[in-house]
Amino acid sequence: MPDPQPGTPLQASPVFATGFHAGHPSYGYGRADNPTYRALESAIGALDGGECVVFASGMAAISAVLGLAAGKIVLPSDGYYLTRTLAADLPVTVAEVPTAGPWPSFDGVDLVLLETPSNPGLDVCDITALVSAAHAAGALVAVDNTTATPIGQRPLELGADIVVSSDSKALAGHSDVLLGHVTCRSADVAGRIRHARTVRGGIPGPFETWLAHRGLGTLDLRLARQARNAAALYAALSGHPLVSDLRWPGAEQDSSYVVASKQMRRFNGVFTFTLRSQDAVERVLAASELVTAATSFGGLHSTADRRAQWGDPVPPGFVRFSAGCEDTDDLVADVLRALSTSDL
Ligand SMILES: *Cc1c(COP(=O)(O)O)cnc(C)c1O
Repeated sequence: MPDPQPGTPLQASPVFATGFHAGHPSYGYGRADNPTYRALESAIGALDGGECVVFASGMAAISAVLGLAAGKIVLPSDGYYLTRTLAADLPVTVAEVPTAGPWPSFDGVDLVLLETPSNPGLDVCDITALVSAAHAAGALVAVDNTTATPIGQRPLELGADIVVSSDSKALAGHSDVLLGHVTCRSADVAGRIRHARTVRGGIPGPFETWLAHRGLGTLDLRLARQARNAAALYAALSGHPLVSDLRWPGAEQDSSYVVASKQMRRFNGVFTFTLRSQDAVERVLAASELVTAATSFGGLHSTADRRAQWGDPVPPGFVRFSAGCEDTDDLVADVLRALSTSDL
């Protein structure tokens, strides 16, 4: 909330100006800076615990982070697929490592990018342990925190140098905005990231920035309901004869749970499972009244995405499910009914 000034609006409106009246220390030309960016950057920066720079998308934010490295980068082999595509186009050496490890020596590495929980596999890595190994070798550590969100995990507190995120997912949370951010522990690295945004021009629109800020206000409430729905669906689907390889880092039975519960402050609504075939997934989604087939995750409404269609190295019946904010009993009943009436 901005400082209270009598007569000014309770909530600030988006500022669309290209240019500002001259003489202000920050606001001159809209590509470099804007009060709407600064408002969201100060809110996310407070949650992440560092200096935040907002970007037009998660990929614009990741581009700026990978641009910090000139030599060798270590990336997750099972993380967001476009990060690997982008790195392959850059003039750097890339090593790909699965999030669950084993991790190689970081000798000669400039930048280690972790993604935990990874999208879509939901494997988890120990941020503190990997940060000490990477720092001992002189590498910077960035964590893609998209799945966890700034209130689910604080990588800077765990020793990482940089947090990067797609805020198109749970942070904005309404499936109507593309946005990303980078938060840095050091003002020097944040300055380089801000410079990259200004010169490359990957700036967010003020309206999108404002919408994401509005969404952020309910992130806590949305995550709570989404995690409750994921836990209820996990319980309902555990041992179901049509469902295999159920994974949710928030479940005590999950192989990620021990590390996840140590470093995450809370869980969220994203879980995965596998049905027998592509056809089985399509029938169940057609039979469901509450779950929509759509990519992306973290929105108000439950969605399910068959990741093999995007080229992720997963079985054809692998589903990434994003539990929304529906009533828990309604959602569980709907998913169980869709499974039982799909004639699988
Ligand atoms: C979606 C996503 C991205 C890319 O973000 P966009 O906002 O779509 O550009 C990056 N990392 C992860 C983990 C994602 O899920």
